[in-house]
Amino acid sequence: MRRRERLEALEQIANEVRDCTGCGLHEGRTRAVPGEGDPDTEVVFVGEGPGMNEDREGRPFVGRAGGLLVRLLGSIGWQREDVFITNVVKCRPPGNRDPQPDEIAACAPFLRRQLAALDPAVIVTLGRYSMATFMPGARIGQVHGTTQPADPETGARDALVFAMYHPAAALRTAAIERESFEDIARVPSVLIRARERREAGGTSGQAMTTSGQAMTTSGPAMTTTPADAPVPSPDEASYTPATPYPASTAATASPAFVPADPAADEASQLTLF
Ligand code: URA
Repeated sequence: MRRRERLEALEQIANEVRDCTGCGLHEGRTRAVPGEGDPDTEVVFVGEGPGMNEDREGRPFVGRAGGLLVRLLGSIGWQREDVFITNVVKCRPPGNRDPQPDEIAACAPFLRRQLAALDPAVIVTLGRYSMATFMPGARIGQVHGTTQPADPETGARDALVFAMYHPAAALRTAAIERESFEDIARVPSVLIRARERREAGGTSGQAMTTSGQAMTTSGPAMTTTPADAPVPSPDEASYTPATPYPASTAATASPAFVPADPAADEASQLTLF
């Protein structure tokens, strides 16, 4: 899909989301929150659903959890404008309760169509409900920081899914915050692996920069998992970290946290665009 078609598709979906009455959540919303970001990005972050601030502004992750997401992205040298950010449900569940199965099901076609339009190489799930969409049956405590290929049924044609805790959980618990900084430090190397997989599969569309130039997918010389390396399925008992992370490096929850894992460190220098 070309940039213009992608933009049109995303705008069409956003308009449908704003008009949607497909489940009870529309009754309590101030504004629907379709999602936002770079239409040419290779990386999509998927949260659970809008909170109070998002409902007021019509934009995802603009409250405290959004502030932490921005700090997490900043720790790998990325900005929220570099990625696309959306949610499993696009309207605020009352009182920030968990989204119900019928609400998730009613909203699922929007996420599916967004992923089909964006064709990301990497999907980062934020929290349990987002994880469950892409890794059914998985447990967040087991799979955070790990990848598996996305089922094309999700709309993502050829992507790796990377699971993270929800930033709101990280705000509540210092250990989860620390693990979230450790987890996101792996995302650049997951992106490199995803690019390699797509190139090896020969299914990659030519990704473009926002200015229309072809982007490089080669990346710096570094060690990555081979493109055809087995990735555990969600029902396997143990999951393989995206990149091995030495326990000795788990140290600080600071947003300026720099991973000591050289692969993750080098990959974090990679620009997306
Ligand atoms: N939490 C989410 O899951 N999504 C948002 O957009 C904001 C908070």
